[in-house]
Amino acid sequence: MAKNDLSSGRLGRYRAKRQFDRTSEPKGSGASGDGALYVVQKHSARQLHYDLRLQFGNVLKSWAVSKGPSLNPKVRRLAVHVEEHPIEYARFEGTIPKGEYGGGSVLVWDIGTWVPMDDPTASFDKGIIKFRVAGEKLKGGWSLVRLKDEEDDKVWLLIKERDIYADRDGDILHDKPISFLTGRAI
Ligand code: MN
Repeated sequence: MAKNDLSSGRLGRYRAKRQFDRTSEPKGSGASGDGALYVVQKHSARQLHYDLRLQFGNVLKSWAVSKGPSLNPKVRRLAVHVEEHPIEYARFEGTIPKGEYGGGSVLVWDIGTWVPMDDPTASFDKGIIKFRVAGEKLKGGWSLVRLKDEEDDKVWLLIKERDIYADRDGDILHDKPISFLTGRAI
């Protein structure tokens, strides 16, 4: 198989799920931009969820956060690690045709940059990623912690760090529901 074949490489699983003549989602060139991208996409599939994506090299590592991020450091939100997405996906908004991977519509709920506190790949392998986010809605320190006992090690927890951006009382998902990019609601 040729090296640049669309079904091979790190985006193989992403591409294998999609028929690009049916969806407007990006195929992904694998090209790397400047800075480490952070995005949260609000996705109304069978179940509304929030997809957290962090750029690792030339792909976006992705977690589906069923209840969305919370600014309360006491709240741990389940984050299921899903397939890597192309960098271009970070700015994707639109409707996904019905299919195995959910369908529904997507908006860019938050976007910005992220900085890992340690080597990101080693942190991922260890199952504890501490990082800082500079988004429009989410800011400051966060951690992702893998639940090792779970099947396939796909289940992580997303936790806000105690800092000036923490908020025990509000509900940012309710207070700021719309797209950062376009102002659209889902
Ligand atoms: Mn999703």
